[in-house]
Parts: sequence; C-alpha cells; structure tokens
Amino acid sequence: MTLLKTKIEFLKGVGPQKAELLKTELGIYTFADLLMHFPFRYVDKTKFHLIKDIGPHSDGETVQLKGILRRMETITSGRTKRLVARFRDDTGMMELVWFKGANWLQKSLKVGMEYIVFGRVNNFKGKISIPHPEIELVANSNVKNALTLAPVYPSTDKLTNKGLDAKGQRKLMAVLMNKIEATDIPEILPDYILEKLKLPARYKALKDIHFPKNQLDLKQATNRLKFEELFFLQLRLLQIRQNRKSDLRGYAFTKIADKFLGFYNEKIPFELTGAQKRVIKEIRKDLGSGRQMNRLLQGDVGSGKTMVGLMAMLMALDNGHQAAMMAPTEILAQQHYASIQEYVDGLGIKVGFLSGSVKGKKRRLLLESLKEGEIDIVIGTHALLEDPVEFKNLGLAITDEQHRFGVKQRSKLWKKSRPYPPHILVMTATPIPRTLAMTLYGDLDVSTIDELPPGRKEVKTIHKYESGRMRVFGFMRQEIEKGRQVYVVYPLIEESATLDLKNLEEGFESISRDFPRPDYQISIVHGRMKPADKDFEMQRFVKGETQIMVATTVIEVGVNVPNASVMVIENTERFGLSQLHQLRGRVGRGAEQSYCILMTGDKLSKEGKHRVQTMCATNNGFEIADADLRLRGPGNIEGTQQSGTLNFRIADLAQDGKILQTARELAKRVIEDDPKFEKPIHERVRHYMEHYSKRVKGWSRIS
Ligand code: ADP
Ligand code: MG
Repeated sequence: MTLLKTKIEFLKGVGPQKAELLKTELGIYTFADLLMHFPFRYVDKTKFHLIKDIGPHSDGETVQLKGILRRMETITSGRTKRLVARFRDDTGMMELVWFKGANWLQKSLKVGMEYIVFGRVNNFKGKISIPHPEIELVANSNVKNALTLAPVYPSTDKLTNKGLDAKGQRKLMAVLMNKIEATDIPEILPDYILEKLKLPARYKALKDIHFPKNQLDLKQATNRLKFEELFFLQLRLLQIRQNRKSDLRGYAFTKIADKFLGFYNEKIPFELTGAQKRVIKEIRKDLGSGRQMNRLLQGDVGSGKTMVGLMAMLMALDNGHQAAMMAPTEILAQQHYASIQEYVDGLGIKVGFLSGSVKGKKRRLLLESLKEGEIDIVIGTHALLEDPVEFKNLGLAITDEQHRFGVKQRSKLWKKSRPYPPHILVMTATPIPRTLAMTLYGDLDVSTIDELPPGRKEVKTIHKYESGRMRVFGFMRQEIEKGRQVYVVYPLIEESATLDLKNLEEGFESISRDFPRPDYQISIVHGRMKPADKDFEMQRFVKGETQIMVATTVIEVGVNVPNASVMVIENTERFGLSQLHQLRGRVGRGAEQSYCILMTGDKLSKEGKHRVQTMCATNNGFEIADADLRLRGPGNIEGTQQSGTLNFRIADLAQDGKILQTARELAKRVIEDDPKFEKPIHERVRHYMEHYSKRVKGWSRIS
C-alpha cells in the first residue's frame, strides 16, 4: 500500500521536470496514479510489414517496419519546416516525416543504420508517408523478446517534447511494474463476485492492462477493470437512490376510478401499444407507493408519450388531485392543450391553459381557478413555474421534452404542493442510450417506450449535395402538387446567429423565386421573431394555408402537422445527430410516405459524413443515440451536459452495456442484501467505498 503512495518523482527515470509535467498534463502525482493511467490502445508489434505492401489503401493503418535509414533533409515551405527521411527495406522505399523536433532528430538519428519504425500510414494525394513515427535502433531494441502487445498511452505535445510520448511513458510504466508486487495491490471486489464472473485478481488485471502477454490476458484484465469501475459507480448511485427513496414521502394514488376508466373504456381512440401499457403500469406502481415519483419517460418521436402522460394525469384526478403538463414552447403547449381537451371531452374534466401570452383578466381568472381547484388539468409553458401560480393540490407535474428545462427549473415544481411535493414525470424524445440512462439517471427511475404505434411508414432519408438542389426543388414541387407540405430547416447557432439569419433569409428568397406566388405560399419562422408573429406563421402552416415552412430549429420540438411529408435540412453537417433525428420526427406523422432530405456542402468532415450515413441508415432513435454516443462521447450527448462528468477511466458506455448491466444487477443485490456493507463478505467493498465515495460526490447532485 505504502509503495503506491510514493510520490512520482521518486520513480527511477522521473526527474523534477518530468514529474511536474506528469502532474500538470496527466494528473499523475503518485505511483498509484501512474498505475491507474491506462493505455488507450495496444499495437501489435509481433510482425514487420514490407514496404512493398504499403500503398494508398494502407491509409490510417499502423505498421511496423525494419530497414535502413537513408537520406534526411529539412524542407521548408512557407512557414512550416519538416524533416523528411527516406527509409528502405528489402522491398522498397518510403518517407518518414516529422514536423516537429527536426533539429534534435537530425542530430540523433544515424543515416545508414538499421532501425525499427512504427507509425500510422498517411496517404496524401497518393503520396505515402509515415508522419511522426516511433523510431528505434535495431541494436538498442530487444526485438527478440519484443512485447506481443505494446501499450499506447495518451500523450500531449508538452509530454512528447520532454520524452514522455507513448514510448517514454511505456518505459516508466515498465519501471513501475518491476517494483510492484501482489501485496501492493489488495483485492477490492468480494470473492464471490470474482468467482461468479471469473474475474482475474486486481493485481493481475493491473499488470496485464499495461503489459499483456496475449489478447486473452488483455481481454480479461480489461473486463475486470471495467466491471470494477462500473460496479462501484452503480453501488454509489444506488445508495443515493435508496437514501432519496426513503426520504421522499409522497401522495399515494391508490384509486383507479371513473376518470381513468371512463377515458380508457370509452374514449381512447386507439389500442395502446404494448410499450405504452407497460410504462403506464410502471407509473401506476410509483404513484401508488406513497413515495414521490421521479421518473423519466423516454420514447422516440411519435411513440405516444402524450397519451401516457394523459393517463397518468387521470390517475391524479381520480385521487382528488390536480395535474400539470409543461411544454418548452408556446406552440407545443397549445398543441397539447388542444389534443388533451379533445381527448377528455365529455368526462367532466376542466382543462386550463397558461403561457406568457395569457394576460390580463384571463390570466387572473385562470390563476384563481387553479388555486381554488376548479381546474383539474393545466397545460402550459414555463409560465407555470412562476411564483404567482398556485395550486389547490397539485399531485402530478409532467414536463415534456426534458432537455429544454434545466434541473433548477424543474425543482421549482416541487415547491408547488404541500405537504408533499408533486409526483414528477419527465418526458423526453431525445432518447438517451440505455447504458447512459442507467448511469446518468442511475438514481432516477427510467421508463422507456421502445415501440411505435402500428402502421407508421418509415421516413425515407436521402443525402443530397448542393449540386443536386434543383432536383430537390423539383421533388418538393411534386409533393406539393399532391397536396403535401414541406419544411425547409436552417441551423441557427448562437455564436454565428447573424450569419445564420442571413443564410435563412437568403434561403427564403431563393425558395420564393423558385416557388412564386400565387401558386405557392411560404411561411417563415425563426427565433428572432416576436412570439405572436411566430405563432401566426406557424398557424398558417398548420392550417394548410402555406405549403412551405422555412424555419430554423424552433420547429424542432413537438410540432405536429401530419400533412407535412417532406423535411429538407440545410447545412446538415452543422446539426448534431439527435437534433437531426428530432427534426426528422416532424414528418412521417400522417399516412403518407414521408421524406427527409439532408443537404450538405461538397466537403464533409469524417464525422459529418458519419452522421449523414447514420441518419440514412436508421430511423430508430435509440440506435441514433448510440451512434451519437460513440461519435461524440458521453459528455456531449444532448441532455447530459448539466450532469457533470461522465469520465470513465476505462469503461465505455457506448460499448460496455453488458458489463454495466451485470455491474448494476450485482450492485443492486448488494444494496438490497447489505446496504451498509456490514457483512464480512462485503468488508472490501466497505473499505473501498469509504475511500471511493470522495471521488463521486458530484453524482448526488444529478437529480
Ligand atoms: P410523442 O411521443 O412524440 O410525444 P405523441 O404523443 O405526439 O408522440 O403521439 C404521436 C401520434 O401518435 C399522435 O397523433 C397520437 O395520437 C398517436 N398515437 C399515440 N399512441 C398511439 C397508439 N397506441 N396507436 C395509434 N396512434 C397512437
Ligand atoms: Mg411529444
């Protein structure tokens, strides 16, 4: 134990300068920190490639070569200087290139000597080279007993300049590993878990993660360390959740009576999907439990969340309480208001509406009747959160499209009811990958609608370059002739808002030229318009008075115009995946075949291309969320930014769903069986949690 606490400067090969860098660049202060600094990949250095086999097709591949270093020269072009070396083996010749450290390299590399070179092949317009290769004299290297798999550690420019590139770090790690013995690394998982999952001991796993002998050892080590990381996180989250649950008493809605049954037996216009039924049951169980519900309801666009929300509200009403539903925009709130009013018509339920646009006497009356309890269900915008809004007995508050509301805003709802806070249901159409939900909302309850109502036609998604614009316009014309409507959406991102607005206006003009009046009517909606104007334009489109809606992403959320069958997205490369998916969800709501056309410039980044491909390949929001997670990492997924870090040392939520599942199940069992880790079998867990919980304090603030 004490060995691992040794300061990093006491490791052989680490001077004060390197120690300082390790601290500032990598957060490594002690032997233990270094030990926990894992490779991010491994390279197979068991074989040598032949230069003749390397060509443009090898772009991006890592290769290891053995050969003679030939001529070196420094080439200056403009302000950049690069060192180019010829390197040859028995089969051919290729170039090695360095853009940095030329002077030093030129001095230390020896022309005519035999080297081992390792790096990633780069193909620039048919010219093949290896930029910044690792290079080592054959004489110095231990080729014979070379590692099967060499660890590669994350580095930075600063580290590289001080000899702490991947190779330098590897050397340090080897020094450290030689010092460490099994007794230095005690086990932290209970034996019964190790046995059950056949996990290697911690000591072995940590040795193997750095210097695996073979793929199998590496796999087992990785597996074990991922499990360990996820297991302790889940334990912590479940602990928080348990504490919360025992703390938060809530109203018990035990009755299912005439409102719910009247609606369900007589009024409901369609058969609920299996997923809707399951989720309603989950909610019902929560509402009846006597503890406050805090549930996230996620479901793809069009999966029928509103209906689930409505049925939950009817349960509240049956138990003598009021219910509220809050939407992020006026348009959406009004749509909910209209559809819910229609649904409950004839059931003796009073539905009210409140937003910023409800003013004067109307507002006063509404506020009064909310307070008196004359209104059963109120639908509105965040105006509902304001202080003057009081309820007689709010029992359930629903917020739709969660990512638009901050956590802080939501917590305002809690104060709207006495003696208990209302039950909270948060509905989101931005599916969070299951693995992420489990962690991010690990202390919340999550319900998922993973099924669309029957009979939906998949939206066909097509990618078009700017050069194909006239064909796209032609297609729009065809659809409009069939009586359909079309959205054309432009990105509007804060920092370049002025430019974007110009884009939008130019787009509007160009469309107006190609779709002239009086044959075509066009609406335009953007965030800078006054709410009343926005609404007016929106309504014209909803009523079918205009055929084309040119808009920014203000229409992203929730708008329902079933007759719209085409969604054209401009500058697609500037949208994130989940946003694109949301936008696409605006079409395909009616019986007609719908289309989503993704317009991009000719130049697409790799990631941009990947996003477009993903969109064309699937309509499934969860698959898209998973792809998003893989592309951008957990910290960038919409709706998670406010959650603090999701930085894992080794686990990867995009890939480790299965391990996470197992970790969660076992953690659950531990919490149920021995919540305070008092049993001898959990001695190690208790010990580690006491130390570990310091590091995950932030988690308790998530909900
Ligand atoms: P979202 O989950 O995106 O909020 P909505 O609640 O707006 O979805 O529902 C989308 C459409 O599907 C609505 O027109 C709604 O009436 C309809 N719908 C919901 N549930 C069903 C069902 N079980 N069968 C058929 N149509 C349904
Ligand atoms: Mg909705």
